[in-house]
Amino acid sequence: MARERGQDGKVAAPVRLLALHRQRLRQVLYVAITVFGVVALMDVLRARPLHAALNLAEVALLWLALRWNRRQALERVVALMVAAFAIGLGTIIVFDQGLYDEGVLALPALLIFAGMYGSRHLLLALTGIMVAFVVALLVLDQSGVLHSEPLPMNAARAITTSMILMIVGFFVWLLAEDLRAAVTNLEAEKRALEESHAHIEVLAQRDSLTGLPNRALAMDRLERMLESARREQRLVAVMFLDLDNFKTINDSLGHPVGDALLRQVASRLRDCVGDSDTVARISGDEFLILLDDLDREDAITAAVERIMLALERPFELEGIEVSATASLGITVAPRDGGDIDALLKNADLAMYRAKDSGRNTFRFFDASMNASAVEQLRLASALRGALARNELQVHYQPEFDLRSGRVVGAEALLRWTHPELGQIPPDRFIPVAERSGLINALGAWVLQQACAEAQAWRSSGLGELTVAVNVSPLQFRRDDIERDVAGALDGSGLPARNLVLELTESLLMADTAHLSRTLQRISATGVRIAIDDFGTGYSNLGYLRRFAVHRLKIDRSFVSQIAANAYDEGLVRAIIEMGHCLDLQIVAEGIEDNGMLRKLHTFGCEFGQGLYWSPAVPASRFAAFVREQQGVFARGAANVS
Ligand code: C2E
Ligand code: CA
Ligand code: CA
Repeated sequence: MARERGQDGKVAAPVRLLALHRQRLRQVLYVAITVFGVVALMDVLRARPLHAALNLAEVALLWLALRWNRRQALERVVALMVAAFAIGLGTIIVFDQGLYDEGVLALPALLIFAGMYGSRHLLLALTGIMVAFVVALLVLDQSGVLHSEPLPMNAARAITTSMILMIVGFFVWLLAEDLRAAVTNLEAEKRALEESHAHIEVLAQRDSLTGLPNRALAMDRLERMLESARREQRLVAVMFLDLDNFKTINDSLGHPVGDALLRQVASRLRDCVGDSDTVARISGDEFLILLDDLDREDAITAAVERIMLALERPFELEGIEVSATASLGITVAPRDGGDIDALLKNADLAMYRAKDSGRNTFRFFDASMNASAVEQLRLASALRGALARNELQVHYQPEFDLRSGRVVGAEALLRWTHPELGQIPPDRFIPVAERSGLINALGAWVLQQACAEAQAWRSSGLGELTVAVNVSPLQFRRDDIERDVAGALDGSGLPARNLVLELTESLLMADTAHLSRTLQRISATGVRIAIDDFGTGYSNLGYLRRFAVHRLKIDRSFVSQIAANAYDEGLVRAIIEMGHCLDLQIVAEGIEDNGMLRKLHTFGCEFGQGLYWSPAVPASRFAAFVREQQGVFARGAANVS
């Protein structure tokens, strides 16, 4: 809205508002001139020359105000109008009925008028004058100079009163309309202002090509991340990512294609990180990635892996498939530095090291982190192809009934034979599979294999053997587990009662209603649930009651010590007794000699497994093992009879 500059240089009221005020004053003046004109005419007709003269003087003053209103300062116009009205009303009141006069009704309206259109001084002066006027009337009355009497109520009085009320009403109506319009205007202007603020903010903080935060916003966020990381003693990762071949793509395919590539890279990077993390574009083909609130360095490696993997897929740019690789430099606060400048310098340095070592790779600023991260990522990428390349196998470790000494089933244990690295123990690759999300596919595959194998044993007459399958907590996080279990049972034809799922204590400690219901549904199908590595977690009895659990597997670390360590012996006895009280079967794992076996047997433990009998072996060897066992029993029985 345009504004006028006053003589003193201050910004005056907006032009539109001034025009509106002028218009209102004009309307009021027209009405007032008409009214006073009519009254003067009536005075002439009623032969009241003095009254007529006064009213005509009034009309003259108002007419002057009307002329001023066209070009003079409004304040003067308003002052003149107020003076004219005040004099007019005052004269009428004095010469008619004093304070009994109808004219008194118009005084508050005059105050409102002065307040709305005049200056503060004018309003104050007017109020003062009115009060003084009332006091003067009193004094004149008391001193007998001027005595006013109310006229009797008649039609003329009623008409005058109604006219005054109508004029005041009209006038207040105008004011109210103006106020309403002003408020609506203000609101619209406020909205427009807010919108333009938001727009400016977007322009100032976002990269217009990708919509990602720009450097300024990224620095802002990094500062906040570092602050909260310091407070909560957590890690923040700062990564510089630079596309390796952007210039070539830009030069050979043109800028629009280059822009499209940057947009796609931006969106893939965004998908690789969490909501609280930041991906920013800081210049041409350089991105800054900030990972917030990390408790372990592994999480950084997992993110790096996701990023490298995301960029591995070719980009589809105007019908052409383009591959773009990137070099990534990573630094971790607080271990590599606590302030923004140092961290950015470190990340930059690390990024150049990645470029130097042949591009399409990453480097941590801290060299010691490189080794473990490289190893992790190598394992993860090797594991991804391992299933397809037939490098994975499920082995079976027999489980025994300690009373009868017979094989009752087996635990399925995953084995990975890498063509170069050889046997990789599950303790090393299962965590990698869990971090990279591969565990879901692997877990489903193990379930299928184990169920198919157990059904094959049944069909070949080995009897009702159970198979126990280890399940990672992560498989419960997505709701696939029930589908995977049902699929494995349906696909193999194995009855549900022959399958046991081994879960770790940590899963139950999460103790969600959701988990409890899932376990309930699984066990309702007949599948049994065992708690693995019991004793290493919180060993909270409460959760055993809450969840549908059938078995406890005492951790190997306690079992191996029962012969040597009285404390562990007591612990194992306690676990067995407690488990029995809760109606749970107890399995001891890691039984390596006869001494352990005898002790566990006397403590009342039902089942066991361990090197005393056999390590985990391939399926065919397991079948042969069971057959041989059953032969021994059969011969034993024959000998007895
Ligand atoms: P776990 O479930 O506690 O498995 C028992 C481990 O103890 C197995 O190691 C087994 O070979 C070993 N063991 C059995 N008897 C003895 C013994 O008498 N003495 C000694 N020293 N060790 C014995 P493994 O096969 O290396 O598995 C290690 C862990 O890897 C397993 O611990 C399990 O947590 C995990 N794992 C194995 N296969 C799978 C799988 O298919 N899925 C999942 N999620 N985890 C698996
Ligand atoms: Ca197990
Ligand atoms: Ca175990």
